[in-house]
Amino acid sequence: MTELPTPLEHHQYQRYSSSAEIEACLGALATAGGPYARLDRIGTSARGRPLHALVCAAPRRPGRPRLRVMMVGSQHGASEAAGCEALLMLARAVLIGEAQEWLDSLEFVFIPNANPDGRELDSSRNGNEVNINRDFVLLSQPETSALDNAVLRYEPEVILDAHESASLKTRTLGREGYLTDFEAQFDMAASPAVAPALREYGEAELLPALIAAVQGRGLRAQRYIREITSTRQPITHGGLTARKFRNKAGLRGALTVLLETPMEPKDGSYPSYRNIAERVARQSLCMQAFLAVVSRESARIARVVATASRLPEQQVLPLNGVWVKDLQSPEVVIELRRREDYLRQAVTFENWRKMEVRDPLALPRAYLITAHTGVFASLLARHQLAFEVLAESMTCTQERECFRGFDPVEGAWHAVETERVRAKAEPGSLLVPLTSRSARLLPLLLEPRSESSVFRYLAYARLLEERTPLFVTRIPRDAEYLPERLKSESHPLPPNPES
Ligand SMILES: [Zn+2]
Repeated sequence: MTELPTPLEHHQYQRYSSSAEIEACLGALATAGGPYARLDRIGTSARGRPLHALVCAAPRRPGRPRLRVMMVGSQHGASEAAGCEALLMLARAVLIGEAQEWLDSLEFVFIPNANPDGRELDSSRNGNEVNINRDFVLLSQPETSALDNAVLRYEPEVILDAHESASLKTRTLGREGYLTDFEAQFDMAASPAVAPALREYGEAELLPALIAAVQGRGLRAQRYIREITSTRQPITHGGLTARKFRNKAGLRGALTVLLETPMEPKDGSYPSYRNIAERVARQSLCMQAFLAVVSRESARIARVVATASRLPEQQVLPLNGVWVKDLQSPEVVIELRRREDYLRQAVTFENWRKMEVRDPLALPRAYLITAHTGVFASLLARHQLAFEVLAESMTCTQERECFRGFDPVEGAWHAVETERVRAKAEPGSLLVPLTSRSARLLPLLLEPRSESSVFRYLAYARLLEERTPLFVTRIPRDAEYLPERLKSESHPLPPNPES
C-alpha cells in the first residue's frame, strides 16, 4: 500500500470517500508536506461542513517566478466524484510522491471537495439544493462565495475546474438510441467580456496543446461541446455567462480551463464502485497532461495573464455573445455509440461553434445606484467590488435607461430609451467606480441587457420598473459634469483617448 493512502484507496475503490475522510486526508497531507504545505479554511458549506484549500509551494526564491495553479474538484458533489479523488492523489504525488519536481515551476492551490454537502447527499447540488455552478452571478451560496473569494485571495494565473458527465442520458439522447463517445473534453472561459489575450491564447494555443497532450497519452480528447441531447440539435461550445465558475474566474483574470471526463451508467456492472477506478484514472491522466502543458508554457502564460489585467481596449466591452452557425464550415461529424450494440456511428450535426459578439458597451467611469441600495451593497460586497456610500448628494452627468419590460421569448430586457441628463444622486446612493479589477465584471452584473445580469433573476427583475428610468445609472467617461473625486489622478481609469 502506498504511503498515505487516500480514502478511496483505503477502501479499495469500493465506495466514494466521504467529506469527513477527505478532510482527514487533506490534514494528513498538509502535515506530511511540512513547510511545503498549508491547509486554509476558505469557507463553510450550506450544511456547515468545512471547505478547505491545500496550498502546496516550495519556499520562494528571488528571481524564480512560479505560476500558481488552482485545481478545483467535484463542484457537482457525489454525482461527479472522480475529480476530488484524483486531486487527493495528485496533491500527495506533488508533496511526497513522484511529482515533486512540479514544485520547481508551479505552486498549487488544491480545492478537491468544492461541494462537500453534495458528496454526502449523493447529489450534484449543495445542501440548499442549488447547482452551485450556476450561482456565480448571485453568489447566493456559501460554496460559490468561497470559490470566488479563493480566486481573489490566491490570484492563481491558471485554474482547472474538473467535472464529469454521464455518457448515457436516458431522458434525452438515450431515447434516440445513442450515447456520447468522447474520453475527455476541455473548454476555456469563453465569455466575450473575458480579456481577448486570455481567450485568444486559450483557444488558439492552450486548448489545442492540452488536447494533443491527452491524445498523446491515449485518450480521445476534444474541445468541449455543450451536452448533446438530440441528433438534430446544432453543436455549440459551452455557456458564456458569469453564472459558471470558469467564466467568472476568467473575468477575474485567470486563465481558466474546464475538464470534463465521461461516466458510464450508474447501474452498470464494473470492477470498482460505479467504475470509479477507471474514472479517476481518466481524470488523473488529464490533470497530468494539463500540468505538463502549463509547466512547459509557464513563461508565456505569465505574460498573457499580465496583459489580460489591463483595461479593455477602446474602453468598449461586449456584454453578450451567442453561438452562431459557422458558414465556412456548416456541418460537423461526431461519432456517437449506438445504445443497442455499442458500435460507433458517425452523425452529422449543424456546426454552431462560431461566437458572435453582441451588445458592446462603452465603459462608463462609474455606476450610480440610487435605490435598493442595501440589496446592491450586499451584492457588491459578496463580489468584493469596491463602492462608496455617498455622504452628501452628488450632481453629475448620468446616462439613464428605460426598459420596456422583460421579453420572455428572447429572455432579455429591451431598452426603449437612453437619456443623458444632469441629475442629482441623494445621500446614501452607491457610487461604484470601474477599476482595472472590476471593469470586465461590473457591467456584466449591473447592465440589464447582459445575460450575466442580476436583473435576469426574479429577486432583482422585480425591482426594475417598466418605462421608468432605471435606478442603476452610468456616469459616462466624457461626462460634462463629473464629480471631483472621479477626476483625480489616482482614479484607476485612464483618460479616454478620444476626449
Ligand atoms: Zn459538473
